[in-house]
This record gives sequence, C-alpha cells and structure tokens, in this order.
Amino acid sequence: MAREGAAWLKSTPGVRGASTDGIVHVFWLAGMSCDGCSISALGAIHPSMEDMVLGRIPTLPHVVFHHPMLAGEAAQDFMEPFRQAAEGTLGAPYVMVVEGSIPDDQTLERAGQYAGLGVGSDWPGSMPSSRAPDQPVRTSDWIWALASGAAVSIAIGTCATWGGIPAAAGNITGSMGLMDYLGADYRSAEGLPVVNVPGCAPVGDNFTETLSSVLQFLQGVGPLPDFDELGRPAWMFDQTVHRHCPKAGYYEEGVFAEEPGGDECLVEIGCWGPVVQCNIVERGAINHMGGCMVAGGACIGCTMPGFPDKYSPFYKAPPGSAISGGLSKIYGGGIRRLRRLSMKQGNREPLWDHTGETPSGWVDKAPKTGSVDKANTFFYKKLQYHGSVHQGKRNHKQPLPASRDILSKKGIAPNQGTGVPRERV
Ligand code: SF4
Repeated sequence: MAREGAAWLKSTPGVRGASTDGIVHVFWLAGMSCDGCSISALGAIHPSMEDMVLGRIPTLPHVVFHHPMLAGEAAQDFMEPFRQAAEGTLGAPYVMVVEGSIPDDQTLERAGQYAGLGVGSDWPGSMPSSRAPDQPVRTSDWIWALASGAAVSIAIGTCATWGGIPAAAGNITGSMGLMDYLGADYRSAEGLPVVNVPGCAPVGDNFTETLSSVLQFLQGVGPLPDFDELGRPAWMFDQTVHRHCPKAGYYEEGVFAEEPGGDECLVEIGCWGPVVQCNIVERGAINHMGGCMVAGGACIGCTMPGFPDKYSPFYKAPPGSAISGGLSKIYGGGIRRLRRLSMKQGNREPLWDHTGETPSGWVDKAPKTGSVDKANTFFYKKLQYHGSVHQGKRNHKQPLPASRDILSKKGIAPNQGTGVPRERV
C-alpha cells in the first residue's frame, strides 16, 4: 500500500534558517557499540550514504545525517538539531537510528550512565532532566525523547536489534535491544514499529536499502516494505544463509573442510548457516566482495536473536549437523562418485568419441577412461536419450573433417619455431 500524497516532505522553515525543502534528518545514536555498524553503513554502495546526502536518488529526499563521524559541527552546534527534534521544533521530519544496545542506566543513582551524548545544557528546557548543564546526557534519554516523534526508528546491528554482545551472559549493564527498551506497543509518528537490520557488523547495503525503502514509502512513492514478524526486511532475511552459500554444493556431496579457509563446506568446524537467516553470501560484506563463508569463515549466527550465547561455543559443529551432515556424507559420497563418472564423459566432443582420440597437448592430464566408465556412459546415454534422438550416434555418421590434424597432413613439425620442447608440455 503506497502512502497517499507527498505531503510528508512539505516545505518548512529551515533548521537554523536554511531551507529544508525535501529534507529528512537522520539522528544517529550510539549506545553500547563498537562503531562497526557505522563503518558498515559508511561503506555501503547500494545506495551509498553520499548518494543520499547529495540527493542523487530521484525518489529520495536529501538526507541530513546527524552522525558524529560525518559531522562538520561540534559540541553545541552538533547537538542543537537533537534538541530541536526532541522538543518538536525541528520543522522537518526525522528518522532515529540506534547503533549499539541500550544500557539499563535510567535508574542508576545520581549522574550514572553507561553511554552518553551531549551535556545537560543541550537538553530541551521544556523536558524533565536529571542532568546538570555540564553532565553527560544518557543516550537512553535521547532515545526515549526522540522515539515518538520519529517518522521511523531503525535499529542497526545485532546489539541494537537483539542486545548482541553487550547483552550476553555476564552483562553488567543490563543492555538490551531497541524493541525491548521501547516496548511492543511502540509506534513511530508514522505508525511503524521498530525496524530491525541485524548483523555484527551488518551488511551496510542492508541498512541503506532499508532506510531508502522506508523513506520512499513515507514519501508516497513506494509500498510499505515487507517486514517479517521481528521487523526485519523480509526480502533480506527470510532465507537461511546456507541456501545461497557458495559451499552448499559441497554440503550436498558430503565434503567438509577440516579448518577455516577450506574450499569445502564448513559445517563440521561450526557453521550455523543452515539455520541462520542472513543474506551476506549473496550480497557480500562490502561492494559485493567477501562475506563470511565466501571468505572461508564459518557462520556463527551473528544476525540472530540470542547471539552470541545461543550460538556458542563458536567453531564447534552444531548438534543438528551430526545428523544432516552425516546423512549427506552417506548419500553425498555416492552422488559425488556418480557425478565424477558423468563428468569424465561430459568433457568430450562427439568427434573425439568417433575417432577415439583427444587432440589435446594436455591429454596426459586428462583422466583415463576404463571399462567402468564405458559401461556407465552406455547406460547413462540410454537413459538420457530414452524417447528421444541420440544426437551422439547421429554425429558418428558425419564424415570426419578432411583438414583434421592439418599440421601432420602438411608435414609440418608440430613444435617447429616455438622453442618449447614437446616433452615439456
Ligand atoms: Fe551451509 Fe555453512 Fe556449509 Fe555454507 S559453509 S554450505 S552455510 S553449512
């Protein structure tokens, strides 16, 4: 359902006097974070943050990122739009993005805080505050203050979505994800629950594509993107990583790596790919390059709720793999051998079958065909051409090309002038 009209981005008085026609602000808040999500998002290319900032995408407004790594302003100048957004005087729509988990610091005594942004003098005078003008404001304060006015709230990365590493066993900060913090009844100013883009770190393109899809919906030029029951973009997270893994063929044939970096399937060294929802292997980590299994690393479940505790210990085969991997070893071993036999015959022209020769200088490296191969080929072809024309047999009836093996027909030495002794090839 497309949103009606494009009134959302109306002409408004500018922030600090500037015109904000077609502008949307994005406030980036970091809780218990390593900044990895920022690095991923800054490296995104489809679309890139630069494209969004410069208004290069026709169906998107200019996006103004209030992000510490992008900011030209500092101190009060940087914090002023945060204050305006929280008190409702920004004069333009905004999106709240949260990176890192939210610490349970609202009830800490006095000025206690685990993550902060700005100081008490940056906080809106119209809103209650427990902070002195020179004390840090808790990030968790900015989150509750900005959430209800945001057109949409997006949690980026597994810490902000599900709690992640800061919420793992032994967590002394009480850290949690944005949905836990805001509650199940939370809806943005445009009626949307929290949108979640997980990953540790997430694929940057997953974030920028989600943000731009939501902005297109809010602007009335696109449908509401398809989100799953946990607010994940369904088109990115509804498949297991295993289904699109470049090593899935090895899994099917029961061939498993013994150490990271191997070409083969990594399930026996702890890959959780068969049950983890993630798109990193088809999208790549950055610029369509890399991505865990593509680079030889086992999936440790970093996009999933419960990571890391529910996917540890790392690099130990998941219990389910003993059954599924064991079965694929049994039937996959048989399938692999049959395929090898077929491949031997597949690498031949009908002309070579006709003459019984393979005219390749590399022929010594070609696998030899024996009686088992010939019997296999016989039955394979019987099945292949059953009810159809045996093109291989038809080919046998054609005359051999007259200029075949032309050098010997002309009496020219095969390696004349090359300087490469034949025996070295
Ligand atoms: Fe599946 Fe992991 Fe093996 Fe890839 S490496 S095929 S995701 S089990």
